[in-house]
Amino acid sequence: MAKMFIAGESVDSVTGQTTEVRNPANGEVVDTVPKGIAQDAQRAIDAAAAAFDQWSHTSAEERANMLFKSAELVESERKPLSELLTREQGKPLQESATELEHFLHGLHFVAGLASKVRGAQVPLPAKNAYGMVIRKPLGVCGAIVPWNFPLTLMGTKVGPALAAGNTVVVKPASTTPLSSIRIIELMNQAGFPKGVLNVVTGPGGVVGEELLKNPKVRRIAFTGESGTGKHVAEVACSDFKRVTLELGGSDPMIVCDDADIPKAITGAMVGRYWNAGQACLAVKRLYVFDKVFDAFVKGLADKVARYQPGDGLTKAEKPNIRMGPLHTAAQREEIEAQVQDAIDRGAHVVIGGARPEGKEYERGFFYQPTILVDVPDDARAVQEETFGPLLPIFRVSNLDEAIERANNSIYGLGSSIWTKNIDNIDAAIDRLQAGNVWVNSLHYGYDELPFGGVKASGFGREHGPEALDYYMEPKGVVITH
Ligand code: NDP
Repeated sequence: MAKMFIAGESVDSVTGQTTEVRNPANGEVVDTVPKGIAQDAQRAIDAAAAAFDQWSHTSAEERANMLFKSAELVESERKPLSELLTREQGKPLQESATELEHFLHGLHFVAGLASKVRGAQVPLPAKNAYGMVIRKPLGVCGAIVPWNFPLTLMGTKVGPALAAGNTVVVKPASTTPLSSIRIIELMNQAGFPKGVLNVVTGPGGVVGEELLKNPKVRRIAFTGESGTGKHVAEVACSDFKRVTLELGGSDPMIVCDDADIPKAITGAMVGRYWNAGQACLAVKRLYVFDKVFDAFVKGLADKVARYQPGDGLTKAEKPNIRMGPLHTAAQREEIEAQVQDAIDRGAHVVIGGARPEGKEYERGFFYQPTILVDVPDDARAVQEETFGPLLPIFRVSNLDEAIERANNSIYGLGSSIWTKNIDNIDAAIDRLQAGNVWVNSLHYGYDELPFGGVKASGFGREHGPEALDYYMEPKGVVITH
């Protein structure tokens, strides 16, 4: 049985209760984890609070070295960690390996920043006085992580928090705690003082809620659904905690008639069907210029037909590509309901639109990669976040129409434009309501660039040197001599 990691030790819940973690490809139990309660979260928060003074006064260089060392330790278990992630989450092995690689790259990136934090010296109008801006860590940080990218989305919180001198309590999603626990055990072998980095498992409404409410927690970083994010903001902000929210998205992708169509097709395919479409940052509404619409839809459908749903631990036969199951039964039902709603409103299925048939699919939550056309703008697949392998494609006559429809969403996470025309590029960068714009490029969260949303996609930024700003408070100092 996997255990929580609190104050430098692997521990059970005070209740001794456990929960099973099941493989979404076949329903088999992968392992059990403690079903934590508020008291378990309190133990971890107390340990993190006790460790803060020491960690925040550890030299920046030593903190950086420990982070580099922790990355090395995680790297030493690359293969078993990737397999564990596939078994608990469902994604194909190659995608798990890529996710772990991204986690490691992010950890290296922030470890490099840890010793390079700068403040400022400020001239003041007072006589014989000058000001300084120094940057102080916040204290105990709660990292609440979802199930779709459990490793990278944990890394984007834990890495900058530790680099800036904070201590951390991680709350992984209930369905994907195993690889996160193992990573935290390995990272701790780098020598972090006891209590600096902890993980508590258990229901979000109990363990997560304690993180939101406990006054010793000064910072919450949350990734997940916009509705939960709203609750997180209400509860945590009412206690004046610093909060960042990386929430849902409905990224538009715009393909102009001068675009490199084969490249755009690959961008749409990877951008939508990676992780079986279960990504906040993903191509969820595709606006294609009239002149290239038919060729584009046909080209994309031909490529998408190569996806073969199946257990992520096995490879598809070439030229097919493996697509894992959806993560839960509820997740699949949601996609089915969104597809049905679109069809009821007049949409047509180009490819997919159903569960795959066959005995091998009976025990997992598989769904075919799906493309829809003629979807009206009031359909659920347009208005809501689609968290699965479902892509509606829309015909547009010009860029103004594309941008207007792209912006007609409560979300604003990613967006992209595919064109060679500099005026189109300029208009898209300026006018698309999103935290990120990609030009002729896959929707991908580079560690080097700030990442986050506007509107219902949340606030605050992860990734980039900017991420550190959300884990430190500037302190003004006046020195008179
Ligand atoms: P949630 O937002 O419910 O969960 C995300 C994390 O928050 C999990 O660790 C969860 O714990 C925790 N949590 C849940 N309730 C609370 C609470 N009251 N206080 C503190 N933490 C809490 O997302 P789900 O996993 O339930 O997924 C639901 C939908 O959200 C998906 O269908 C998808 O549409 C969207 N989603 C979007 C993501 C994104 O990156 N934009 C990521 C994941 C989901 P626990 O697992 O124990 O419930």
